Amino acid sequence: MSTTPATVDQPVGVEQPADLVARLRTAFRSGRTKPLAWRVEQLNRLRALIAENGDALAAALHQDLGKPRAEASAAEIDLPIREIDHTLAHLEQWLSPEPVDVTAVFGPAATAGTRFDPLGTVLVIAPWNYPAQLLLVPLAGALAAGNTVVVKPSELAPATSALLARLIPAYLDREAVAVVEGGVPETTALLAERWDHIFYTGNGAVGRIVMRAAAEHLTPVTLELGGKSPVFVDRDADIDATAERLAATKFANAGQTCVAPDYVLTDPATARRLESALALAVERRFGADPQQSPAYGRIVNERHFDRLAALLESGRTVTGGGHDRAERYIAPTVLAEVAPDSPVMREEIFGPVLPIVEVADLDEAIGFINDRDKPLALYGFTGNETTRRRLREETSSGGLGFGLPMAHLRVPELPFGGVGESGLGAYHGRHSIATFSHRKALLDVPLG
Ligand code: NAD
Repeated sequence: MSTTPATVDQPVGVEQPADLVARLRTAFRSGRTKPLAWRVEQLNRLRALIAENGDALAAALHQDLGKPRAEASAAEIDLPIREIDHTLAHLEQWLSPEPVDVTAVFGPAATAGTRFDPLGTVLVIAPWNYPAQLLLVPLAGALAAGNTVVVKPSELAPATSALLARLIPAYLDREAVAVVEGGVPETTALLAERWDHIFYTGNGAVGRIVMRAAAEHLTPVTLELGGKSPVFVDRDADIDATAERLAATKFANAGQTCVAPDYVLTDPATARRLESALALAVERRFGADPQQSPAYGRIVNERHFDRLAALLESGRTVTGGGHDRAERYIAPTVLAEVAPDSPVMREEIFGPVLPIVEVADLDEAIGFINDRDKPLALYGFTGNETTRRRLREETSSGGLGFGLPMAHLRVPELPFGGVGESGLGAYHGRHSIATFSHRKALLDVPLG
């Protein structure tokens, strides 16, 4: 009997990427993933995986990111469950073929329409900052669309990665879904294979690596990237309510959120009012010493801690500034009078530092935004209809939110994705079906 020897890099028993893809492709071609019943069953099992293992997920997220339980529940457990429930409620309707009018071209007997075909075998690569949500929600979309799937959790959230690698095969169809753990070498090996879609969430440098690898096989990609998401605060805004909502969103997950408010643009007089309101809002939320607060997370690793600590001198400290490397703690920090070319304004912050940059007026704010990469999200705090219209019509961003940052991704009917440097493609709800399917054109012109 001949056996295939394991390669030097892989322990015996670990499936090689080429074998894994071939196995999942065979499963796809068998047709097992196409019936609605299979998709619904897998979504129900995925829902059960999340619902029955909430404590274990929260513990892993705490280990990886010091993630507070309330944040884990809201963003990594409840959100994927709501996404799955929404999909289960609408999937049959989303999948039904859509007729289009053809009579003017081929006469009354002809029919035409579109239907969603699953793409085949797809790869989902997830990041560390919401390591459960950003793996589970794309996975739900890929299964709902009838694909076989390989998911690759982030090695920078090792406890969550290990837990998902144990749970997913225990709950989902092993013929159709596989988890590959690992970092750069393992992901590079996966990217060398031919996929029918690659769904990547993370930074733009790796996004380019993914897209180059995909180009070899003309594989379509979704790139969920990041960047600096600005906030415009108008002089008419309710400053206390604005500060409350900025503090609640910016400092969630210690600022390590792709759609977190990155920096504030406002006029000098409003900046002064906002500064004191933000200092109070931070204290109300996290107490006098946020390091002791159970509601405040930690920085993922020392590399990111050092990067963030170097940004703390970029302006006048309004609140925060403290840090503790041993605990990877960086205080929720607000910096005022930040220069547009200061270090904190040169890269996506991805941490708990909120710079306020002063602009003369809305014109200057819009110019500032449009001079830079198109953001993943733009937020406005204003009751002025002209300001709202101008932000809507004169800027481009993945999403635009008035009044509450980060909330648009909790509406499953809204596409979630970036534009330009902040990403390519979108998902959530019906948009995940479109992402993980091919919309096939159908035409039937009867002979008789
Ligand atoms: P990360 O370091 O976990 O990387 C993401 C994934 O890429 C991981 O699975 C990792 O193993 C893989 N990877 C890393 N280097 C690679 C390489 N050289 N070749 C192949 N694969 C590689 O996460 P990150 O990139 O630090 O995540 C933070 C970034 O992601 C931020 O820019 C953030 O804004 C963005 N982000 C975007 C979204 C979104 O939904 N748009 C969500 C979260 C994070």
